[in-house]
Amino acid sequence: MRKWLAFLGSYLLVSQAWAQPPDLFGPFGKPAPRDRQRLERVAIDVRQERRIGDQQFQAFRSRLESQKIRLWTTGKDHRYVTQLVHAVRSLMSNKQRYPSIEVYLAVTEQTDARAFPGGRVIVTTGMLEFVQSEAALVGVLAHELSHIDRGHQMEQLRSFLAAQQTFQSGRFSLEEMMAGTRLMMNAFARPFRPEQETVADEDAVRWMMQLGYQPAEFARLFRRMAERDQGRAEVVPGFLRSHPLHRDRLRAVSEYAVKQARQTGVNLKKLHVGRDNLAGRRPFVGR
Ligand SMILES: [Zn+2]
Repeated sequence: MRKWLAFLGSYLLVSQAWAQPPDLFGPFGKPAPRDRQRLERVAIDVRQERRIGDQQFQAFRSRLESQKIRLWTTGKDHRYVTQLVHAVRSLMSNKQRYPSIEVYLAVTEQTDARAFPGGRVIVTTGMLEFVQSEAALVGVLAHELSHIDRGHQMEQLRSFLAAQQTFQSGRFSLEEMMAGTRLMMNAFARPFRPEQETVADEDAVRWMMQLGYQPAEFARLFRRMAERDQGRAEVVPGFLRSHPLHRDRLRAVSEYAVKQARQTGVNLKKLHVGRDNLAGRRPFVGR
């Protein structure tokens, strides 16, 4: 536990709210098969999930505030992103569990997006400026919604709990843990495992195509970010933070799109890019 707290200490010293935390999970990243069986029996109901998400969100929000980064929940940009999020939400497998997704715009040049358990998404105005097309923006939002849809953050929580003595000895109480360890909850926000990122990218590509968007725009976004960030790996934005690396991710996304097109008979060339939709903040979907 002391070792873990030392990790946490260094995590909190990271000055940028979006900066990469050290690998908090380390050896806890993957529970042993026996633990995994136990974990699967721990159901986290949606109310608990929302409370966990609230704690993560509030902690994150105060870190943004300390950097003078504001969160917008009104205005034309916010309305636009919300419309896109609603269109993607309609394709989520667990959309009943998340009847609405709250959208926040963080006013910063940084290009990032982040999902919170229970159904919240933050996207930066820097991302809105950087994406160049509605298709790419939908890709980013869909990727984040996939993490919510698949309960990836809850999986991280379960993995952590599996490594805790309290859990293994049956004395674990989610309520207690949440009451006493606000900071700890914050640490569950990141990072995702590479497999989770890959799955979220695939969901994003599939959902983009179902909504009529050009998945090549998502791949192009990765390429442009990789080019922009060349030679400054230490400031890789959060959206691209985890492995696999940009270039691998770009390739994986492109290959998956081709495979999907073949399976569904969709003509990739006919899919929508939406530069004008983005420029005018007039969504191609959800009208
Ligand atoms: Zn992700």
